[in-house]
Amino acid sequence: AGLPAPGSFRTPPQLSFEFFPPRTEALEQQLWSCIRRLEPLRPSFVSVTYGAGGSTQARTHDTVARLARDTALVPAAHLTCVGASRGAVDDVARQYWDCGVRHIVALRGDPQEKNGPFQPHPDGYNSAAELVAGLKRVADFEISVAAYPETHPEASSPQADLDNLKRKLDAGAVRAITQLFFDADTFLRFLDRCLAAGITAPVVPGIMPVSRFAPAKRFAQSCGVGFPDWLETLFGGTEEDADTRNMLGAVVAAEQVRLLQANGVDEFHFYTLNRPDLVYAIARILGVRPDQAAG
Ligand code: FAD
Repeated sequence: AGLPAPGSFRTPPQLSFEFFPPRTEALEQQLWSCIRRLEPLRPSFVSVTYGAGGSTQARTHDTVARLARDTALVPAAHLTCVGASRGAVDDVARQYWDCGVRHIVALRGDPQEKNGPFQPHPDGYNSAAELVAGLKRVADFEISVAAYPETHPEASSPQADLDNLKRKLDAGAVRAITQLFFDADTFLRFLDRCLAAGITAPVVPGIMPVSRFAPAKRFAQSCGVGFPDWLETLFGGTEEDADTRNMLGAVVAAEQVRLLQANGVDEFHFYTLNRPDLVYAIARILGVRPDQAAG
């Protein structure tokens, strides 16, 4: 049997959206128009990334605090272990708690210099699992962590990486959000392995709708994510043709999420890149409408 008609699933899924903190006034406006466009879809939470090496600490904090203050959205702050002592990280977490933020996406983080090895701060948290345990000592945060359908590049084996995911959940995280991937099967196989390893917490697919192929490929390669040949062929030659690229990006992401949804996946996390249009359309394809979103 084929897939149900687009947008026709009876129970709309839960969505969450990821933004990055803006660097300039113009980007700030772009971010807030993106947030306002996606807000009526009533996501279960929205998260704000933390730049490599903690480089966006103030901007992440300001964006998350404004989300808490000026919107009805549930904000989640990404927080990493890089370049900071445990005390400093705990202080940042306490500031979040004090301004009403209850959800943290806890990550080890990557060093500021890409490709260098991760060097923990001498008094810092050494891993995301340690960070989760530390945050739970600060306050009773809801904590999400990262998972890697294609295995984290530094892991000694896929099983070791899965053991690490389990440690993060055992330390108090309640949800895993995956690294991006391009083949739905990659995620579904990973989900099977999680279940076989006794992981019962939700493992939420991280979806990145692609409209600009070359940067997406570079980004995927920099985090050890396979970029399939078919995608390269599909987008090849459309560099100067934004309309076609957007249509292709929408179709690829729509097929990906529809296949996942048909296999029982009912939560999706979108890497929005602060651009709302593809995400908005794909949400509708998943059956989420602004007036009747799951809440
Ligand atoms: P960890 O879970 O600590 O794992 C790191 C590596 O160490 C893995 O290979 C793991 O298997 C291994 N490992 C950990 N503990 C052990 C152990 N005891 N024994 C053996 N091996 C071990 N980065 C940012 O800088 N800012 C962000 O905002 C950000 N947001 C992200 C959001 C999502 C949804 C995802 C998927 C990633 C994000 N990242 C972000 C990237 C992330 O910081 C990197 O992928 C980083 O390299 C690993 O972080 P982690 O939390 O998965 O680390």
